[in-house]
Amino acid sequence: MPGFELFGEQEKAEVQDVLDNGVLMRYGFDGMRNGHWKAQKLENALAKRMQTNYAQLVSSGTSALTVALLSAGIGAGDEVIMPTFTFVASFESILAIGAIPILVDIDDTLTLAPKAVEKAITPKTKVIMPVHMCGSMADLSALKAICEAHNLLLLEDACQAIGGSYEGKPLGSFGDLGCFSFDYVKTITCGEGGGIITNNKVYYKNADHYSDHGHDHIGNDRGAETHPFLGYNFRISELNAAVGCAQIERLDEFLAIQEKNYTLLRQALNEIPEVTFRKVPDGGVENYSFLNFFLPTEKITRNVHKALGKAGVDACFYWFDNNWHYYRKWEHLKENKSLGKLAKDVLEGLPDYTKADFTASDHWMGRTISCLVKLSWTEQEVKNRAAIIKKVILEVV
Ligand SMILES: *Cc1c(COP(=O)(O)O)cnc(C)c1O
Repeated sequence: MPGFELFGEQEKAEVQDVLDNGVLMRYGFDGMRNGHWKAQKLENALAKRMQTNYAQLVSSGTSALTVALLSAGIGAGDEVIMPTFTFVASFESILAIGAIPILVDIDDTLTLAPKAVEKAITPKTKVIMPVHMCGSMADLSALKAICEAHNLLLLEDACQAIGGSYEGKPLGSFGDLGCFSFDYVKTITCGEGGGIITNNKVYYKNADHYSDHGHDHIGNDRGAETHPFLGYNFRISELNAAVGCAQIERLDEFLAIQEKNYTLLRQALNEIPEVTFRKVPDGGVENYSFLNFFLPTEKITRNVHKALGKAGVDACFYWFDNNWHYYRKWEHLKENKSLGKLAKDVLEGLPDYTKADFTASDHWMGRTISCLVKLSWTEQEVKNRAAIIKKVILEVV
């Protein structure tokens, strides 16, 4: 997945442009910047690649989620449905605006189970937020149908799945809003950065204004701008955007490498009857950033994961025990460990997650291993890796 593996001359040239004119700020300073608008250039490239009308860059994927929610008017007391398997950013972004994260089970897609989503809907529900973890997507048709039936917003967290598609549409562009992260370990990186895509002009304008203190960005006199509403600073810098300008040009190159490496790994595991693979919904194409597979039992999976580590195979994850990505270890959320007092709406609306029953999620996550697909491997390295993984699994099962 990580685009940082392949930094090259393009990235250096884009960053050098910014340093040469000295304007690190994405707005204003028109005279000094010698025609360089890296954030705007990356927004245009992102919107074009994602086939959406608009793209707004922000400072991170987490802030992309926060700003996307706010851009559609989501706020205090609103319920947002999110999966049990994701990154902590999902509930962070929801809590940041005083809304309530409603955790819902996943299925063999490793993302939101549509039936469980339907059961979780209440009069307060405003958004369904599928997270396309590890390169593949939720059953977006089913989720869209639920959204239409209940008048809800579909917000795709495509932070880990840039370049994948569903029914011919780039992931992130299927819902009302889509979010990407360009942090250091994502498929394309800005160091830190995030992006929001949408076809909705109002959401776009709201995101544009909100992420820069509510400035309306009308005209080119920063001092004369007005503030239609309260905002915040979630801006990306020109330096970060410059790296992304080079990386997005290389997205298809990266995706082709990921697919090639993924395919070699998968072919090796295909030969093991005990191994089954994460379900990709009909009409979906992964971005191949991870190879995700199931083993027959939790015990076998733990043993395989341990044995892979011993055999020196790095970057294979057992998310079931991971405290960034799976609800089981989110003690800070379960115990409401907030630095300041949480808002009343949140305290009153937050389910008691110490008592939640997510056995349906555990059924899948307890048996899942995800192996990161790197870009820098040689073909021989991938083949050796595939052979070792296969040998280790066969020894344990
Ligand atoms: C990385 C990530 C985020 C947050 O992105 P940052 O840029 O690190 O803030 C959100 N959701 C998912 C699924 C991610 O993997």
